[in-house]
Amino acid sequence: MEALDKDGIVALLNSEGSEMESLLQRALEVKLSHVGNSVHLRGLIEYSNICRKNCLYCGLRSGNRKLERYCISEEEVLSSALLAHELGYGSVAIQSGERDDPEFVRSIEHLVRKIKEIDGGSLGITLSLGEQSPETYRRWFEAGAHRYLLRIESSDEELYYKIHHKDSLHSFRRRLDCLESLEKTGYQVGTGVMVGLPFQRADHLASDLLFFKRMDVAMIGLGPYIPHPDTPLYRFRNLIPSPEKRMEMTLKMIAVARLMMPGINMVAATANQTIDPRGREKAIAAGANVIMPNLTPGEYRENYFLYPDKACVKDTPDQCQRCLDIRLAAIGHRIMYNEWGDSPAFLKKQATRQNGCPEDCSAEHRP
Ligand code: SAH
Ligand code: SF4
Repeated sequence: MEALDKDGIVALLNSEGSEMESLLQRALEVKLSHVGNSVHLRGLIEYSNICRKNCLYCGLRSGNRKLERYCISEEEVLSSALLAHELGYGSVAIQSGERDDPEFVRSIEHLVRKIKEIDGGSLGITLSLGEQSPETYRRWFEAGAHRYLLRIESSDEELYYKIHHKDSLHSFRRRLDCLESLEKTGYQVGTGVMVGLPFQRADHLASDLLFFKRMDVAMIGLGPYIPHPDTPLYRFRNLIPSPEKRMEMTLKMIAVARLMMPGINMVAATANQTIDPRGREKAIAAGANVIMPNLTPGEYRENYFLYPDKACVKDTPDQCQRCLDIRLAAIGHRIMYNEWGDSPAFLKKQATRQNGCPEDCSAEHRP
């Protein structure tokens, strides 16, 4: 594990040409020796695009009146989860716009329990449902969810408030509290940021990496920012780097994260694929090891409009699986089917917590 300070990280993030190539190569080697060439899948179910928040970059923001809003029925969620199981995905991830009303909280709790009934609890469950009370996080955890993704979006408070309103619904402090509460509840916690935001500098990104490390997170999800025309941040699109530069910076972030935290799980986000046709493979080759193929029923996908031109929106699960198998084999990686794929970093932390066992515990955690 490399102990990098902020200046060292900034230097790596600013590397170009052969220096950048050797950073990516080094990260790949570290990944292969710590988590191998396996890629784990999380079948992504985009449950609803209804959101109470108004983040300045996101197409699902409540202020965007152009969007037709939806919420998938229980039957549809369960058939997507069943499909994930049949395809051997090992895990599902439920993501949604943010709601905290009792009906939403109950529905998710119920869905998690029902998904856990599939084949004796064989599917791992990741949630990405935004900021919730500690009680809600506990209910969903007790129902059977065990991973939670909540991107900090930026760990720099000043930059955070350039991309969010400064009010009680968009409080930086609350976002931090939620990450802490998730950790205390027992989830494998994932966080991350968008790369290439207006006003974002390399030193912000370096601080983000140090933040992930300090938080000792189990998972990281990083992806390029993609300007959405129906959002307030769009007017600053001239301030952001080109798609190629945003892609490169995302890859360097993934690589440095892998050097700093060799045992974590890292998602090759769909946003990578959106700005570069080989984006997901490039992310895997730079140190990522998780992919989230979309299992949202086709009719809803276009309305889960976080950002424009989202990749793979029209692919069927079969096409997606074949495509992934081929693309990953071409870069010497393979999909591990029917496994949860918890991160070695988390398993180690869990073993230390439960038995005081400091040894690396690489056993797959199954019920
Ligand atoms: N509502 C939840 C989960 C859904 S949003 C939450 O906010 O945590 C999932 C992620 O989409 C966000 O964390 C954000 O980082 C990303 N996202 C939103 N708008 C985006 C954009 N314009 N470009 C790239 N990523 C975006
Ligand atoms: Fe809602 Fe999440 Fe989009 Fe913010 S990023 S508007 S919370 S869906």
